[in-house]
Amino acid sequence: MKRKLYGIVVATVYILFGVYFYRDPMILKNTSLTVEMGSHFDPYDNIQNIVFGTKKDVDIKGEVDLKKPGDYVITYVFKDKSKSVNVAVRDTQGPHLEVADKKFDLNTKIRPECFVTKVSDASEFEVSFEKKPDLDRVGEQKLKIVAKDIYGNSTEKDVVLNRIQDKKPPVFPKIDKLKVMQGTSEDISSQIKVKDDLDPEPKVKIDTSSLDIFTPGLYTITAKASDRSGNDKDQSLEVEVVPNPEYSEKVVYLTFDDGPSENTKEVLDILKKHKVKATFFVTGHDENHREYIKEAYDQGHAIGLHSYTHDYAKIYSSTDAYFADLDAVNDMVEEITGQRSDILRFPGGSSNRVSANYNKGIMSQLTDRVIKEGYQYFDWNVSSGDAEGNDVPKDRIIELSCTDAYDHVNLLFHDSSPKDSTVAALDTIIQYYKDKGYKFYPLTKDSYICHHSTVN
Ligand SMILES: [Zn+2]
Repeated sequence: MKRKLYGIVVATVYILFGVYFYRDPMILKNTSLTVEMGSHFDPYDNIQNIVFGTKKDVDIKGEVDLKKPGDYVITYVFKDKSKSVNVAVRDTQGPHLEVADKKFDLNTKIRPECFVTKVSDASEFEVSFEKKPDLDRVGEQKLKIVAKDIYGNSTEKDVVLNRIQDKKPPVFPKIDKLKVMQGTSEDISSQIKVKDDLDPEPKVKIDTSSLDIFTPGLYTITAKASDRSGNDKDQSLEVEVVPNPEYSEKVVYLTFDDGPSENTKEVLDILKKHKVKATFFVTGHDENHREYIKEAYDQGHAIGLHSYTHDYAKIYSSTDAYFADLDAVNDMVEEITGQRSDILRFPGGSSNRVSANYNKGIMSQLTDRVIKEGYQYFDWNVSSGDAEGNDVPKDRIIELSCTDAYDHVNLLFHDSSPKDSTVAALDTIIQYYKDKGYKFYPLTKDSYICHHSTVN
C-alpha cells in the first residue's frame, strides 16, 4: 500500500515537471506582422507571455526600418529559446493634405502647390490637379487637388480658384518724408514699399531729375508704382537729403591698391605713427602676407576689394567673370576679417581702356551692376604716380601726391614689393595734408564719391 502511494507521488511529480519543462516559455501574439510605414512600432508589444521571467528578459535581434517599406525579420531570444517574426513595413495611406481656396490675378502662374497649405506623407509624393484645368478663365471654378505617394496611395481635396482681372493699382504706404544721406548710392526706391492686392511684387520707379543727391535740402520727387497687370499710380514724395559730414570737411582718402605685400607692414607702421586711417584695395596674389590684411582691419583701416587675380584678360572678359573674381577676393577678405567688404576699386579704374580689348562696353555694364549689387566703387582724383615704374623717385611721388586742388582727395598709391619709394614718400605726404587741415578717413560705402567717366 505504502509502495503504491509512493509510486503515485513520484509519477505526479514527474508529470508536473514534465508539463513545466515542455511548456513553451515564450509565447508571441503573431508570427508575422504588417506595420504602417512611419508609424510607431514596439516589437515588445508582440510578446504574449513569458514563463519564469518578464518581457525585459527577452532579447530582440534584427532591425525594422519604419522609413523604408520592406520585409524584415526580427528574432526574439529568451534563455535558450528563439523565435523569428516577419515584419512587413508598408505604406498604405494617402498623404495628409490640407488646402485653401485662392484668388489670383491672370498673371499668376498657377501650380497645384499654390492651393496646398500642408501636405506630408511617410513616402515621397507628388501634388497635381486631378484634371488639367482651364486656368485662363476669369471667375470661379472648382478644382480637385490630388496628393499621391509613390506606392499609389492618394488623397483628394476640392478647392475653388478665383481668377481675377486685376484693375487696382498698387497702394503707397503713408510716407511722411524719405531721408537719404548726401551722396548716397542707395537706391531710393527701395525705401518705398508699395502693396498690391494681387501682385506680390509690385514695382516702384522714381523720377529723380529734380533731386540733387549731393546738395542737402528738401526735394519733391515723383514715384510711379505699377503692378504686373499694368495698373499704375503716381505719387509725389518729399525727400530730405541729409548732410554727410564727410562732404563738408576737407578729407584725404589714402588708398593702396594691389596689396598686401612685404611693404604693407611698413605702411601700417607709418599710418599708426601719424594716427591716420587709410584704405587697402586688396588682391589675392600674395598668400605670404595675408596676415597684414587682418592687421590693417584690426587697426581700423578699410579693406576694399581690388581683384583676386588682377588678370585683365580674365576679369574683363564678361560680367560673370568679373563677379566670380570679385566674389573670390571678398571670400578671402571675409575669411580673414570675418566681414565682407562693400567697397571696391576696379583694376585700372573705371576709366580703363584696356578692358575694351576683351569686351566692348564692359566697364559701363560693370559700373552699373556693382552699385545694383550693393557695392560702391571708388576711383581717384590724385595719383601718386607710383605706377609709372618701379623706381619712381620719392620726390616725384611727393610732388604728385601733394595738392590743394581738391577738398576731397582720393589719393592713389600701390602697395607692392617693388614700390619702396612709395613707402619712403608717405611720411611727408601725410604731414602735408595734416598741415593743410585735412581729415584722414577710411573709405566706406557712404564716403565722398570719386568716379571717373567710363570710356568702355
Ligand atoms: Zn591694381
